[in-house]
Amino acid sequence: MGFEIKNQHRLLKRQFRSFPEIAAMNDEHWLAFVNVVNETYHQVDRERRLLENAVEVTAQELTGVNKQLQLFIENAPTGIVMLDSQMRYLYASRRWLEDRKIEGIDIIGKSYYEISPNISEENKRLHQKCLLGESACCNEDRIIYPDGSCGWIRWEIRPWMHSDGAVGGLIFFSEDITIRKKAEEELRIASVAFQSSDGMIVTDHLGTILRVNTAFEKISGYLAEELVGKNTSIFKSVEYHDEAFYRNLWEAVSTEGKWEGSVWNRNKEGRTVPVWLSISAVKGEDGTHTHYIGIYSNTSDPREAERKILELAYYDPLTNLPNRRLLLDRLNQARIAASRNHVYGAVLLIDIDRFKSINDTRGHDMGDQVLMAVAQSLRSNLREMDTAARLGGDEFIVLIPDLGSNAENAMHALNLIADKLHKSISEPVNLNGIIHTTTASVGITLFSDKTQGTNELLKEADLALYQAKAAGRNTVRFFNDAMHIQFTEKITMEASLKRAMDKGELSLMYQPQVDQLGKVIGAEALLRWSPVDLEVISPDIFIPIAEEAGLIISIGEWALKGACAQLRRWSQDEGTQNLVLSVNISAKQFRKENFIEMVKSAVSAAGINPKLLKLELTESLLLEDVDAVIGTMNVLRELGIKFSMDDFGTGYSSLSYLKRLPLDELKIDKSFVLDIAWDEGDRAIIRSILSLAQTLKLDVVAEGVETIEQRDYLLAEGCCFYQGYLYGKPLSEENFQSLVNSLQ
Ligand code: C2E
Ligand code: CA
Ligand code: CA
Repeated sequence: MGFEIKNQHRLLKRQFRSFPEIAAMNDEHWLAFVNVVNETYHQVDRERRLLENAVEVTAQELTGVNKQLQLFIENAPTGIVMLDSQMRYLYASRRWLEDRKIEGIDIIGKSYYEISPNISEENKRLHQKCLLGESACCNEDRIIYPDGSCGWIRWEIRPWMHSDGAVGGLIFFSEDITIRKKAEEELRIASVAFQSSDGMIVTDHLGTILRVNTAFEKISGYLAEELVGKNTSIFKSVEYHDEAFYRNLWEAVSTEGKWEGSVWNRNKEGRTVPVWLSISAVKGEDGTHTHYIGIYSNTSDPREAERKILELAYYDPLTNLPNRRLLLDRLNQARIAASRNHVYGAVLLIDIDRFKSINDTRGHDMGDQVLMAVAQSLRSNLREMDTAARLGGDEFIVLIPDLGSNAENAMHALNLIADKLHKSISEPVNLNGIIHTTTASVGITLFSDKTQGTNELLKEADLALYQAKAAGRNTVRFFNDAMHIQFTEKITMEASLKRAMDKGELSLMYQPQVDQLGKVIGAEALLRWSPVDLEVISPDIFIPIAEEAGLIISIGEWALKGACAQLRRWSQDEGTQNLVLSVNISAKQFRKENFIEMVKSAVSAAGINPKLLKLELTESLLLEDVDAVIGTMNVLRELGIKFSMDDFGTGYSSLSYLKRLPLDELKIDKSFVLDIAWDEGDRAIIRSILSLAQTLKLDVVAEGVETIEQRDYLLAEGCCFYQGYLYGKPLSEENFQSLVNSLQ
């Protein structure tokens, strides 16, 4: 043991003095103890220093560690680069060089930013923060590789400290996110594109709607949530495209991956609108179609766009027929041509009968379909040179520009055309499973080289149409001058009729009804209109006008109240107290929902016996809803009120209805009575009415009996009640009273 060790021992012994075992040790024991302590100390220290500072590890050990580390780093799934405090390359792993496509380039000592030139300013700041000792951070870089291609990577930077205290960076290349970035980018582009003004729709491979954009919502009228999950077949319009069209379309999509063209699409309201549609298939990895994208645009094809603009300006979107504007344009041209070439042309104004009630009772969808069906039958029955247009609402117009130069031939041809169109419109059509028959009224006017302007022409057609409607609709009328005069008169009359009641110009006359002995059994109340300073106007003239203008409701009510008041006055006289008074009731009036109440209140206000009141109905009432008519009649019959079928034999006689109606009486129309003397046909009709009445146990009154011969014939056939000039004209209350008195 050398001096130094001996000294150490002394020092150590002093340190361990407090341990009695050590103090008691002899030198030999002590030396052994110190050796053990030394061994342990060195081992612990070596390990500590190895961990703390690799540099302190022996050169051999260091080489070993380095080799392992290097092996590990080179094979790590992540590229690693070591940079100095100036961001210069100190080391880069093989993986890094590969990933950055910089193998073979001498990068050591070069700046990181020189090798990757387009690092963003933000990322440079992150690097600096790290080098200033802040903790690790990560981000993404868009890299332009030396070969010019570009991609995205995700990286992470961590600080490391040099032996001299300077801080450098370790950058880990954590992930190539080029694919993800591209997808994101495409998604962003797609979502911006999805905001476009073109309608867009995305479906799966079966046509189930997955997404639509706002523009598509506008085009289709649906909200996105109403469409998602539905099939695109809801847009189909069978009126314009048959099954083959859609089959060809999808065949093109499935073989070529796309289709483009003009289609008529049905929107939410059921209207079909033209759109320019391009469909593209989205392919999955295996090449099969996974999705379809449909773009509905207005502008893809400039010719198409132009066509569409013209279409909007000149065509009716529902029926695709020319609209009023285009029609007027063509009519002008036709007039000019007709006058130049001395030929005839014609305008047919067509109005669907009772279109409003179709709309009201069956819905606007049905109304639209009726309009489309009418358009279709016009289209298919016209020559190419003719124009069918929709003026709006339920009004259509047909322009026949050339009917030749011979007036007679022109009229003949026009008659055929009008007849064909009229018939074709009234052909029953199947609308959503309902068989519907449309009828129309048609007003026609001709034009030639002498004809006035377009407006006059349309007015003439309108007047003719008015006549067709007045004639009971479902008919065709031609314009002539007499019509025009009639029309003007009608308008004036309507205006004065409106004020007639207030001015006390209306009155009731009473025409006697007698039995076979000539005894007055009752009377018919007949309206008279005596405008101040004018001749009395016949109800045959003003009643149809009152019906058309809706005035018949109040006029009829006035007449009924007047009749009840008359019955009241008659009830106070012995000679008249049993007379039955008949009152004419218009079909319009009868159908009014408050009719029953109105009659009841008229009866009770006058305080009369309802059995003396008879209501004369006409067969036109049986044209609609006979059950409702029977219902109303039954309610009033309960009160004792009687019913008579007026003008029997002239109208719509259906025996089956007649049997069901709770009637008391038939009135043979005066037109049959008039010609009894010489018309065998009329006599046959009268005979059959009488035998019918006998079967149904109804009374019969013959109207318009003017001669003894007529009365005798009627009596011989079994008709016992008469009304006519033979017994008395319609008389004022006073004159009627005198007549009754004189007969007594
Ligand atoms: P109507 O109900 O057929 O009435 C009978 C018509 O025949 C009356 O014409 C009457 O004056 C006429 N007449 C009666 N006897 C004879 C005759 O022997 N020979 C000829 N040639 N005619 C005869 P009026 O009074 O001009 O009434 C015409 C029509 O006006 C009535 O025909 C009826 O349909 C309608 N009307 C009259 N008053 C009313 C009313 O208060 N309400 C309604 N809704 N219609 C009425
Ligand atoms: Ca009558
Ligand atoms: Ca009559």
